[in-house]
Amino acid sequence: MTEGFLPYGRQTIEDDDIAAVAAALRGDYLTTGPTVEAFETAFRAVAGADHAVACSNGTAALHMAMLAARIGPGDTCIVPSITFLATANCAAYVGADVVFADVDPDSGLMTAETLARALGRAKGRRVRAVLPVHLRGDACDMPALAALAGEAGAILIEDAPHALGSSFRHGNDLDQVGDCVHSAMSTFSFHPVKTIATGEGGMVTTNDPVLAERLRRARSHGMTRTPGADPWLYEMAEPGFNYRLPDINCALGLSQLAKLPRFMARRRALAALYETALAPLAPMVRLAARPEGSDPVLHLLTVLIDFEAAGKTRRQVVEALAAKGVGSQVHYIPVHSQPYWQARNGPLDLPGAQVWYDRCLSLPLYPAMDDGDVARVVDALAEALN
Ligand SMILES: *Cc1c(COP(=O)(O)O)cnc(C)c1O
Repeated sequence: MTEGFLPYGRQTIEDDDIAAVAAALRGDYLTTGPTVEAFETAFRAVAGADHAVACSNGTAALHMAMLAARIGPGDTCIVPSITFLATANCAAYVGADVVFADVDPDSGLMTAETLARALGRAKGRRVRAVLPVHLRGDACDMPALAALAGEAGAILIEDAPHALGSSFRHGNDLDQVGDCVHSAMSTFSFHPVKTIATGEGGMVTTNDPVLAERLRRARSHGMTRTPGADPWLYEMAEPGFNYRLPDINCALGLSQLAKLPRFMARRRALAALYETALAPLAPMVRLAARPEGSDPVLHLLTVLIDFEAAGKTRRQVVEALAAKGVGSQVHYIPVHSQPYWQARNGPLDLPGAQVWYDRCLSLPLYPAMDDGDVARVVDALAEALN
């Protein structure tokens, strides 16, 4: 059992990760070198997509996806209200509007039903993209969302930082999150709490070579070079950004990616231990619901707590857990209720998102935890609710 504080999530960095970064620092390229492509190639294989474009973080990945899809002023994006701020911010970056979709109150996910309602509210607008979020690591029902988005003339951009390694079964098909079988692009983050860490880092996957080319241009100033032209020549058709991921970080990413199978197995084992340990706390405490067909590698171990029945506020529980050295976090405050979006969009009632938000709490989950840590967390939770 770990003695110290257990955060809700954290990186797993080992000696060979450190050696990989040190080797990159001794190399010829700190950035724009061969390790970037090596990381992209390895990631492509893991995600199962034709193209992978590395970038400086998951937010940059979303922004690049917006730019590649040519989304701009007058366009509308549909974003679930239960997500990190960045999923909606990326639409604002390009001057597009956001219509927020509700979520299933038990899984926190956008569903065909909540998307259909959001599309109804977006009637008359030019809906260009729907951004499903595979919250916690459980995958959304992509074929159902793709069918609805397709009817509305919109593409799907999966915001997938929670779901590296997750998959979803539809009939006989097994879809890997990131393979973009049902979407135009998928975005990932390698922030330290995510499944693999590069410090800051992100990736976009796609099977569309045109989108891949635009993503690469958006990543590096909008610059293009023509093979055979004068060696110093570059051209810019439209401004891009500097969203490059340094070779230093890519070296860490490569090293971490090689450990993904082990990280996945450990996350799965810990989630199974939690499931057993939490069972006696039902119905006051329940795990977030698993959609049928989802085979997740959980990023977040989120429980839904009936605080009213417990006679405790969430703050009391969070503070009691912290006093026992157990970190927790709320994923997420409904984004549609943020002051910016309220001022911009006016009031909106999303009951599923509200019910989710009122009950959710994420408990520690990361590969370095041992079995005893799960017992320690669940004991602390039982005591805090008692
Ligand atoms: C982490 C995260 C992001 C942003 O990624 P950064 O690398 O922190 O910029 C976006 N969306 C979701 C759902 C995330 O979890």
